[in-house]
Amino acid sequence: MTKSNRVIYINSFQRSGSTLLGGLLGQLSEVSYLGEVRNLQDYYSNNSRCFCSKPIRQCEFWGQLLQQVDIEQLAHTKSLYGFGHRCLKLASLSKWSLSTIRSMSSIIPAFADEFQLIENISGIYRAAQSVEGRQVICDSSHRTTQCRLLYELYGEELKIISLVRDGRAVVNSVRRRTGSSIGAAATRWERFHRVQKLMYRVIPDRNRLFIRYEDLCDDPIGTLKKICEFAQIKYEQADNALHFIGGSSTIRSNKSSVSTIHLDEKWRHQLTDADLALFKKVAGPLNYTFGYH
Ligand SMILES: [Zn+2]
Repeated sequence: MTKSNRVIYINSFQRSGSTLLGGLLGQLSEVSYLGEVRNLQDYYSNNSRCFCSKPIRQCEFWGQLLQQVDIEQLAHTKSLYGFGHRCLKLASLSKWSLSTIRSMSSIIPAFADEFQLIENISGIYRAAQSVEGRQVICDSSHRTTQCRLLYELYGEELKIISLVRDGRAVVNSVRRRTGSSIGAAATRWERFHRVQKLMYRVIPDRNRLFIRYEDLCDDPIGTLKKICEFAQIKYEQADNALHFIGGSSTIRSNKSSVSTIHLDEKWRHQLTDADLALFKKVAGPLNYTFGYH
């Protein structure tokens, strides 16, 4: 399997600021930000809009990229769920190598599909590089298992940004967007970060950078420079046209917010005392370890 040169993978729970961060990184001279690559098949099938506002099949960037990708194989860009995926997640939490995990495909066929998915994602990265000519691809697909498999494939060329936002803000945002209860959202938030911590035991510190959304909002330039140093890329702003898929509808509908950042703290007046008590019970200790008191 051939791979593209270098990848920045933003691994975060939903509503944690990954679209904002990806959009900022995508304005650096060496970076192509693609958004949530795992959703490409849905975008293609529904001809959904790229960030540039054109439907994906009419967008020049994606049009050129998709000419280099096997459209039939796009069906495999979606992460798998169910028993096979749960088994793969468990295997990924181990220190087994990619070849060992891959060898289990003969026992659990769903593994083979997940490896096909990783191969397809790598092909999309390569195609993006050939279209835009930039050395670094940024993907914000939010999948810890994919992150682990991509690390096995890319090694030192994969840099992971672990983006965290105050869990209270996240569950409030999830409730507003989806109607989910605070308890259910807090449980999912806590589980995501617990699994992520387990997975990171097998990925060296030098490949991971912890960033808080609030710090990004407080000091975007300082935070971007820190990421550039970590990922060994130049901090050089460029007038890149952004063509990414997925992500926050707020940013997608208000393009200026990529460059006009403000910290969203609606949770402070929208969560009731009962909501806060429930969050604290479910996810308070973990939130505390991230520095949210
Ligand atoms: Zn576009």
